[in-house]
Amino acid sequence: MSAPQGLEIELPRDASGFVRRQCPSCLRIFKTRPSRFDARSLQRRLLVMFPFENPHEGYEPVPTWTCFYCGHQADADEWLVRDHVAYLESLARGLANHVRYEQLAHVTRTLSLNPRPTFVAVPPEALPQGMPDEPEDLRPLYLVCCADDVKALWDWDGPFYCPRCGAHHGGLAGRQQVHLEFIQE
Ligand SMILES: [Zn+2]
Ligand SMILES: [Zn+2]
Repeated sequence: MSAPQGLEIELPRDASGFVRRQCPSCLRIFKTRPSRFDARSLQRRLLVMFPFENPHEGYEPVPTWTCFYCGHQADADEWLVRDHVAYLESLARGLANHVRYEQLAHVTRTLSLNPRPTFVAVPPEALPQGMPDEPEDLRPLYLVCCADDVKALWDWDGPFYCPRCGAHHGGLAGRQQVHLEFIQE
């Protein structure tokens, strides 16, 4: 027996196919379509918690994303919600236990001729199952800048940013807002 290989982890999607994100600055929640960088983001975060043999693989670059609400910008691997991070932490603990077990079991095996073994390696628990299901929630919106969909809090009616390109948009439809700006000299 060896440590599990070919581990596949994936961010859960809601019924409409959106993935939950949380701003690392204002902590508000929004959703975007899955990104092709999601797997790399998960790997980067997992590697911080549990370094594998080839750590440099986890540090492939990821794009910068922008908070829908506050405009904060951060690497794509910083937008995981608490549930996602909690799963990665339990996974990292599980992986560490499996590796430790293998090391102890190896010692036990090589000590098999020893008439007085001093310990027995206890098999670790199975690795945690996938992440929790993602509920269908939040308000779908269309972003003209990237011809893409996003989901945001229902009560947000102020200006917002495109998470992908960072473009700044005016207030949400349904409320006409007039902004008067005076330049002071
Ligand atoms: Zn924010
Ligand atoms: Zn955009």
